[in-house]
Amino acid sequence: MTDRNANTGPRHSAGYIGRFAPSPTGPLHFGSLVAAIGSYLDARHVGGRWLLRIEDLDRPRCVPGATESIMTTLAHFGLDWDGDIVTQSQREEAYRAAFEHLQANAEVFPCACSRREIADSAIAPDGSRIYPGTCRNGLPQGRTARAWRVRVDDAIVVFEDRVQGPQRECLGDEVGDFVVFRADGQYAYQLAVIVDDAAAGVTDVVRGADLLNSTGRQLHLQRLLGITPPRYAHLPVVVNAAGEKLSKQTLAAAVDPLDPGAAWLAALRFLGQNPPDELETATLATIRDWAVRHWNIAAIPARIHSQASPFVPHTPTAGVPATNDDPRRQT
Ligand code: GLU
Repeated sequence: MTDRNANTGPRHSAGYIGRFAPSPTGPLHFGSLVAAIGSYLDARHVGGRWLLRIEDLDRPRCVPGATESIMTTLAHFGLDWDGDIVTQSQREEAYRAAFEHLQANAEVFPCACSRREIADSAIAPDGSRIYPGTCRNGLPQGRTARAWRVRVDDAIVVFEDRVQGPQRECLGDEVGDFVVFRADGQYAYQLAVIVDDAAAGVTDVVRGADLLNSTGRQLHLQRLLGITPPRYAHLPVVVNAAGEKLSKQTLAAAVDPLDPGAAWLAALRFLGQNPPDELETATLATIRDWAVRHWNIAAIPARIHSQASPFVPHTPTAGVPATNDDPRRQT
């Protein structure tokens, strides 16, 4: 076994490019606002660029009007992005080129297994199934390919997360060969996200810690495609009183665009920043400028989940456990 991905080097702040990459599955709630504010501040504190990408590959989960609603909310919260918005549904050619590169190097293989067929496999730390390798050496007789998976072999990924500290993942034991082209004909999130970040020159990914265990897969794909990895910072995920990640399924309330200052202050406190009391009555621009100047990533609690009192619905629903259970991210 080899340690293939050391990702600890310093980066020159003048070249900083960050991004916010929401999926248009509904309006922004407090959890997504925290990710937007964290990535925005990390970029602006060093005078960097901050890009907006709409991750709409998973069509059935996309909600009409959500993209416009997210854009309007970001504008109301003073979160001004740079350049043109990238939309993943327009980027198929770039994903295909990356996929064909993997194919040419025999890094991917067709897989006939349905979700039900791998349902008995071992369970990965994120709750998904570890692929048992059924089609790795060729499709079983009489079966046709549904999806394509990338080989992970014995790859071990190590990286230094700027918030969560040193990370190490043995992909063979913890994930298994994972899907890069899905049975529904879409490129998988894991491939699309690294292709898009590389194309935009993203140097720093700041996002929710629900994606921490996707990062090993992304570093593996970057290595296979010869892409220099960005630095990563995974922010604690906001959970409600029942310990559920805020999401549409847990009926998280949309943030109130009419009171952006209060939500900003709540987000700053959640991220361990220490806004002074006088900001309670300050304008949005004053709060934002204070936050840009005083941003301190070292103050963010190194936790995967954390509760925040305002904006969090207190009615437990039959909802989603606070794990990475999004079907886009399953192996
Ligand atoms: N689109 C993903 C989400 O909304 C975020 C992807 C990323 O930041 O890498 O959870």
